[in-house]
Amino acid sequence: MRIDLLTLFPEMCETVMAESIVGRARRKGVLQVCCHQFRDFSGNKHNRVDDNLFGGGMGMLLMAEPIAACLDDVMEQLGKRPHILYMSPQGKTLTQQRVRELAQEENLIILCGHYEGVDERVLEAYVDEEVSLGDFVLTGGEIPALALADAVSRMIPGVLSADECFEEESHFSGLLEYPQYTRPAVWRGREVPPVLLTGHHANIRRWRHEQSLLRTAEKRPELLKTAELPQEDLDFLIKQGFSLLSESETSS
Ligand code: SAM
Repeated sequence: MRIDLLTLFPEMCETVMAESIVGRARRKGVLQVCCHQFRDFSGNKHNRVDDNLFGGGMGMLLMAEPIAACLDDVMEQLGKRPHILYMSPQGKTLTQQRVRELAQEENLIILCGHYEGVDERVLEAYVDEEVSLGDFVLTGGEIPALALADAVSRMIPGVLSADECFEEESHFSGLLEYPQYTRPAVWRGREVPPVLLTGHHANIRRWRHEQSLLRTAEKRPELLKTAELPQEDLDFLIKQGFSLLSESETSS
């Protein structure tokens, strides 16, 4: 996969995407990430890419033309028009399911806004999907874009090594992951659950699955509604005292 990040801060994006697992994947050639500076397409000697709002109001807005020219340049390099995402607090909140779908794409272009955001017309003309990191507002789209690029990257075959497998991680199957422990077996008087030290793989697998169910029921009960659990998991949770109906369902 190739991810193109379009931003006012390509160095910041490059620095983050050069580190750790994603950096290793890039060096192995499993993943390509290219960061592009809007200012290179400003068309003026001061490299200015923002201006005041029509109609008045506080703040500056990124102008349409430098962004469009940057997008056109990237698409010309690629020889195609990939799925184009704009990071925005107005978009749909990112989920692991959407991350998995986006990881199927050969190319992604991610547009980072800044200041007040981006002239609406360039969004209308180019953007396929607006993606939000959550219902809060950041100063720029770089952190959300890097979060998205990181989450998508680790779903690409060959990015994670076998021991960093994602299939049991939170949200992959709709549940939260079970608690995990490493050495020492006793830390400040707190013991690792004994089953994990037995070497009995079937029991460990069962304990982990039950812990996933319990954690999800305790921390994020709303996830159980969409998790499509088999009857034996539902029976287990009911036996543990969890009511799987919402308050409104029980009162009706
Ligand atoms: N004026 C915009 C609004 O009220 O919808 C917010 C602009 S925000 C200060 C600047 C940029 O940060 C946005 O263009 C977007 O790219 C990014 N951004 C801020 N919060 C975000 C979030 N929750 N998810 C994704 N991107 C976000």
